Amino acid sequence: MEIKYYSTRSSQEPVTASQAILKGLADDGGLFVPERIPALDKSLSELAAMDYRELAYEVMKLYLTDFTADELKECVAAAYDDKFDRPEIAPLVAVGEAHYLELFHGATIAFKDMALSVLPHLLTTAAKKNNVDSEIVILTATSGDTGKAALAGFADVKGTRIIVFYPKNGVSPIQEKQMVTQKGDNTYVVGIHGNFDDAQTGVKEIFGDRELAAQMAAEGFLFSSANSINIGRLVPQIVYYVYAYVGLLKQGTIKAGEPINVVVPTGNFGNILAAFYAKQMGLPIDKLICASNDNKVLYDFFGTGTYDRKREFILTSSPSMDILISSNLERLIYFLTGNDAESNRTLMQALGQDGVYRITPAMKAGLKDFYGNYATEAETAAVIGKIYGETGYVMDTHTAVAASVYEKYRAETGDKRPTVIVSTASPYKFSRSVMTAIETVLDGTEDFALIDRLAEVSGVKVPAAIEEIRNAPVLHTRECDTADMKKTVKDILGL
Ligand SMILES: *Cc1c(COP(=O)(O)O)cnc(C)c1O
Repeated sequence: MEIKYYSTRSSQEPVTASQAILKGLADDGGLFVPERIPALDKSLSELAAMDYRELAYEVMKLYLTDFTADELKECVAAAYDDKFDRPEIAPLVAVGEAHYLELFHGATIAFKDMALSVLPHLLTTAAKKNNVDSEIVILTATSGDTGKAALAGFADVKGTRIIVFYPKNGVSPIQEKQMVTQKGDNTYVVGIHGNFDDAQTGVKEIFGDRELAAQMAAEGFLFSSANSINIGRLVPQIVYYVYAYVGLLKQGTIKAGEPINVVVPTGNFGNILAAFYAKQMGLPIDKLICASNDNKVLYDFFGTGTYDRKREFILTSSPSMDILISSNLERLIYFLTGNDAESNRTLMQALGQDGVYRITPAMKAGLKDFYGNYATEAETAAVIGKIYGETGYVMDTHTAVAASVYEKYRAETGDKRPTVIVSTASPYKFSRSVMTAIETVLDGTEDFALIDRLAEVSGVKVPAAIEEIRNAPVLHTRECDTADMKKTVKDILGL
């Protein structure tokens, strides 16, 4: 059955899945959402017999209904191949009282690879289907991981260019090195003098600039987005929750239909929203545990029903979660209003103008499946050290935020259901923070010395993504002020 996509901010004509992927953001500034959430149409035991690619096709075909079976299978096959260093694509590892779903075995060792290795294929297929022959310009704001994953996904993809904006002083040294060494004639990396929210707001403004869009169209360019606001990012993320569930089923950890909990380290709310969609599709998930770092705007929201971004932006050791405007929450808010674009738009306008909105008690009641909490910097480091000490398993700082919040959840509720903790990055990506949590690190120790030491203590080989940048030359040095992002884009495109 065909599924069309509506904007969260108006009930204007819906678009097809491929059009939603091409556009990224709706013209009215809203996010595209499916008119309804489809149910899984195979049994859990049938799904358990599939490998990652087969399962990805089964889940994605339910949403991307205007792609043919062949088109979608080709996209999936091109994405989930030997770019991943494990045949399972997303291994499930039992450590202590939880199961870690390792989503960092792709080209850039962060979970963003799960969606960004397939998005370029979805996008170029969508362009063909809609007879678009403009050059697609991907504009992306990154808190560190999306940028590299998007660059790797789009590098040298014909008919595309990619421009990435990152906060110059807000990413880890390894994240920055990964981005500024990116090869590919169609790649551009810009450090902005601001934080991630500034970058994201700037990109949204450029998307909403009609005059620029007209100028672009005249020159044969079309903007699209690789941020998790693109439905083509969200849908591939639903897959790994189904995969994790059937993985536990295959191991005999759970029986078919037995609910599990998931813990998701959250920033822009894309990853956990995918878990919510998986649950709405009929996957037996009980609690959706939303883990934040010191930027705990979501924790406060779940507790009070008030979303308030007017607070200090804190730089933490989990930079990919240093976010105060969680864009994808808008899709949940829209769902909670009963798909009422008018009400949602009013709330989002309040967020834009006053930095705060409050949901109704009825909407708050709809949040009962979510549990929110946060981990401080000290708690994050402590859990890395503790789990390493007890089991030898080394996790990254983002995953550690989730592990710490899971400890709090268990202590508070006594809930011992089988639980999947979503492991969103390799510890190698955040080696300084991780090693500091494990042992004393002398001031001035070089990043790559820490990486070699991490290999010793963890017994895990240094991933290719890290070896690759060890001696790679810096290819991108562009910087700009937040106010000049549009000008920078025009410079790059020669407009
Ligand atoms: C992006 C990212 C997150 C946050 O994911 P959202 O979908 O933005 O909530 C968490 N951990 C890592 C390592 C990330 O790169």
